[in-house]
Amino acid sequence: MRVYISVDAEGCTGIFKLSQVMPENPAYEFCRRMMEGDANAAIAGAFKGGATEVVVNDAHNNGDNIRIDRLDKRARLISGKDRHFSMMEGISGEFGAAMFVGYHSRKGERGVISHTYYYSEIQEARINGEPVGESEINGFLAGSFGVPLAFLSGDQHITESIKAKVPGIRTAATKRAIGHASAECVNPEISWKMIEEEACAAISGLIRHSAAPLAAPPVRPMNDAPYLLEIRFATPGHANRASLLPGSSRISATEVGFNAADYRDVFRAFLCLVTLASTFRENG
Ligand SMILES: [Zn+2]
Repeated sequence: MRVYISVDAEGCTGIFKLSQVMPENPAYEFCRRMMEGDANAAIAGAFKGGATEVVVNDAHNNGDNIRIDRLDKRARLISGKDRHFSMMEGISGEFGAAMFVGYHSRKGERGVISHTYYYSEIQEARINGEPVGESEINGFLAGSFGVPLAFLSGDQHITESIKAKVPGIRTAATKRAIGHASAECVNPEISWKMIEEEACAAISGLIRHSAAPLAAPPVRPMNDAPYLLEIRFATPGHANRASLLPGSSRISATEVGFNAADYRDVFRAFLCLVTLASTFRENG
């Protein structure tokens, strides 16, 4: 089985505040080591569970955090900024399972550094009326290729939330979030052992019960264009920039919507809307 792993930073072992994941901060070196360590634990678990091939996508910031010479040599690594599928670059129907490592809660929810793609521009994203975060936005994309989400690691809030949505998913809580910038952490060796064991169980379980429906939950069918994406931005200025996208509609001062028949169009529209919004400067 081919396994796809998307690795973010904020949910990784030992990460408890934003400055640790910012490249200009001295603490960022620790962040890179934790991303590599969590990724390696997931890779080891996947191979132990029966994976034949593993592709890792460096999904944080500019995709230049994980160093190839520090990654398990059995895996291939996707790096870099210009990626049309962003945090999910490389996903395709050729994979038998997807794993999300170092993930975190959506903006507005409890959890360490909770946010949705951008830290301050987006207040909320909804698909068919349901608030969604990166795990759903990205998980639905894997689902659109028929790839089930088999494993997720992050703090206890995101692991609990995904277990309620994806039946049978295996998770590893790398820390206990206390606030937005505080957590009770364990030593990486303990966390990595847990990630490896759960990732192994996720893949071996999927291989044993290949018919088990572990795909991201389907969205509600509405009409010929069954996917409705809505984004509430921080300010009307951000929404104004975002609504430059053809086919989008301004719902309110701060909200922009996009309706499509194909989830992959929704995913790409999401990236367009947030990228456009991020060009807005309050005093620019
Ligand atoms: Zn993220």
